Amino acid sequence: MNRTPIQRHQTVCVRIGNLAVGGSEPIRVQAMTNTDTADIAATVTQCAELARAGSEMVRITVNNEAAAAAVPEIRERLAAMGIEVPLIGDFHFNGHRLLSDYPACAEALAKYRINPGNVGRGEKRDSQFATMIQIACRYDRPVRIGVNWGSLDPELVVRMMDENARSPQPRDADQVMRAAMVESAVGSALRAEELGLPRDHIVLSCKMSGVQDLIAVYRDLAARTDHALHLGLTEAGLGSKGIVASTAALAVLLQEGIGDTIRVSLTPSPGAARSGEIIVAQEILQTMGLRSFAPMVASCPGCGRTTSTVFQELAEQIQDYLRTQMPLWRGVYPGVETMQVAVMGCVVNGPGESKHANIGISLPGTGEQPSAPVFIDGQKVTTLKGTGIAERFQQMVEEYVITHYGAS
Ligand code: SF4
Repeated sequence: MNRTPIQRHQTVCVRIGNLAVGGSEPIRVQAMTNTDTADIAATVTQCAELARAGSEMVRITVNNEAAAAAVPEIRERLAAMGIEVPLIGDFHFNGHRLLSDYPACAEALAKYRINPGNVGRGEKRDSQFATMIQIACRYDRPVRIGVNWGSLDPELVVRMMDENARSPQPRDADQVMRAAMVESAVGSALRAEELGLPRDHIVLSCKMSGVQDLIAVYRDLAARTDHALHLGLTEAGLGSKGIVASTAALAVLLQEGIGDTIRVSLTPSPGAARSGEIIVAQEILQTMGLRSFAPMVASCPGCGRTTSTVFQELAEQIQDYLRTQMPLWRGVYPGVETMQVAVMGCVVNGPGESKHANIGISLPGTGEQPSAPVFIDGQKVTTLKGTGIAERFQQMVEEYVITHYGAS
């Protein structure tokens, strides 16, 4: 695919455990657990699930002493499972105390997330922030200064609102709030550097729940700093609304070269896997052509020419098969993640779309002969007929992978 490469805004590269973020590094995908961190078994299980699904960093809440005490064992158990995913500790209110009192926790974490709006109030704020930064310096750990719309530093907001009111041309309150988000992030980063934290140990984020607000804030943030940026629409919501809102916001910014790591903050349906948000994040990056994670299936929506569900079932079966195989294929068939598969419903667009894919099948629409031509690299190679079309096509996909990506 010929495409003008997207020029990334930020230039500072940050090392987080075994991972590099920012600069020219690939845009990283991350997620956060929703288990009680003190429940070591549950947290290890979910961290492993997220890592296996493709979360390149996993954030865990460190909200009390039991959680802080649990972190080293969570790290050890994951390592024993062969999972070296960097763990990020999410601290609010008492992070200065937990990191001071639980040095093994500070050491086991690969990065600390600090929310400057929840570090402390009044005189305590600066000293508690300084304590966390000094611990980051001591253990040579990066921090994410993560500003959130829902917990923006109230003293900063009041000061900026007052200054705005005295201005000859006051801005509206929303503009001042957005400016306060950026100021909180940039000002905190400057303070962290003054305290001795190297520039390449800082990631910034300014999460908001409104799409246009998020875009406006990150454009300002990217223009004001070259720090690596973590991107995400906070409180994105449930189901399709959360997916659409996150995609709308992230796609605009990523297209402008803004964002070095992303998270899609979906509310999972009861009982649904936490790793669903990883698939969404990966698909945002892959459909934009920014990274490849797993072969993608192009399939048509169906119409009055497809009165049976055969083609929907095959498209779903192939998509599930590809996802299931990826953990196995990833290490054995390099490049397989870029493969394109087409499953089409009838002769109208079926052969054409299938020719554009690495391997594609055009199923018979209503009234067509019950045969399904298969195309490989643009050439028709066979026509499948009778029963078992799905199984035979899946077999052909597997053969394509083996013959085209080769065992390493
Ligand atoms: S390819 Fe055929 S079945 Fe699919 S949407 Fe187009 S016309 Fe309908």
